[in-house]
Amino acid sequence: PKPNGDPSAMQMKSYACQRRTPLKHHNSFLTEALEILSQNAEYNDNEGRSVAFRRAASVLKALPHRVKTIEDLRCLPCLGDHSQRVIKEILEDGSSREVESTRQSEQFQTMKALTGIFGVGVRTADRWFREGLRSPDDLIRTGQQLNRAQQAGLQYYDDLQKPVTKAEADVISDIVEKAVHAVLPGAEIQLMGGFRRGKEVGHDVDFLITHPEEGKEEGLMPKITNWLEEQGLLLYQKTTRNSYLEKMDGPARPPNNMDRFERCFSIFKLQKSAVRCKSNSTASVEDVSRGGENERPSEHHSEESGWRAVRVDLVVSPYSQFAFATLGWTGSKLFERELRRWAGQEKHMSLSSHALYDSKQNLYLRAKTEEEIFAYLGLEFIPPSERNA
Ligand code: ATP
Ligand code: MN
Ligand code: MN
Repeated sequence: PKPNGDPSAMQMKSYACQRRTPLKHHNSFLTEALEILSQNAEYNDNEGRSVAFRRAASVLKALPHRVKTIEDLRCLPCLGDHSQRVIKEILEDGSSREVESTRQSEQFQTMKALTGIFGVGVRTADRWFREGLRSPDDLIRTGQQLNRAQQAGLQYYDDLQKPVTKAEADVISDIVEKAVHAVLPGAEIQLMGGFRRGKEVGHDVDFLITHPEEGKEEGLMPKITNWLEEQGLLLYQKTTRNSYLEKMDGPARPPNNMDRFERCFSIFKLQKSAVRCKSNSTASVEDVSRGGENERPSEHHSEESGWRAVRVDLVVSPYSQFAFATLGWTGSKLFERELRRWAGQEKHMSLSSHALYDSKQNLYLRAKTEEEIFAYLGLEFIPPSERNA
């Protein structure tokens, strides 16, 4: 069904990667509700349901106007019965009972608090919930067994809850650039994730690193982290080596859509003075180096110190895979997911952050830019700022 006679009525495409989704849109009052239900489904290990709600929310983000009546939903894809029911209730009553009771539920709130700890996933949080634990404090109080990541997650819990600002991301960018160039001149560094999509805040800062001479990037990460550690800039880091082999991995999608690049999940120690300095536009990286006094491994409260903890993800890609890595680490998560679904279902291709494989022609398609990858996929190019699906 298509609205006729109205030239302004655009046709909403059904894959998020076919649409432009700006950061700011007109329907947060609906998308936030649907995303609560999506999140709750994820907490209950129901991936299909979670994705369905997320897709429904994403369609509303792409609308050029605010939804006012249920009639506005006609002709829109991805809106299942359940989503429509929730939207209708919000339009009529101002809120949805299901959404509000989910939001208030002990399970939802506990899962949110526990998965909010760096290093804690849904499975672990769910186990703790079923054992009666409700908060980060409960984990400490009952002396739970924690791995190194989770210990750091608890230690810096307050800081890591606070959104990272663009100003802070810019300071971290300078630090990462300095570190990378100190150990490998000529390397290229790119800001990824939410900040590349134009977000003003994020839960972390993501970087992709490469070098124009293929092979130079091998084993780069330990050198970077050593440099950072010597400067006292790292509170936590875990580096994973590159495990991608085109011949062995083949076109098959790695489980979880996890890629296999050399990567580092870290927590940086960011001096607040450096951020103020940067905002005043006279930044010098010297100001941000040097940690200062040693902290005790108890919980850190950044109000009482001159620094805060910030989550940083570093990824190293060979130059030949850089375009795919760039596309794969820009997000949003739903946009990525939809790109891979589009590739598989509509094009008989397999897309990862490493490569694009054409199953009909039995070959890998090489690309130097994101634009080329969109073109192979038969998609209009969507710039990062409009991938906020
Ligand atoms: P936020 O502001 O919350 O950080 P974000 O969009 O930057 O939002 P991230 O979780 O940092 O979210 O992820 C950034 C991008 O990196 C996403 O596109 C995601 O697909 C990709 N990504 C994250 N973790 C992995 C991983 N383990 N393997 C492969 N890709 C990942
Ligand atoms: Mn991010
Ligand atoms: Mn990240």
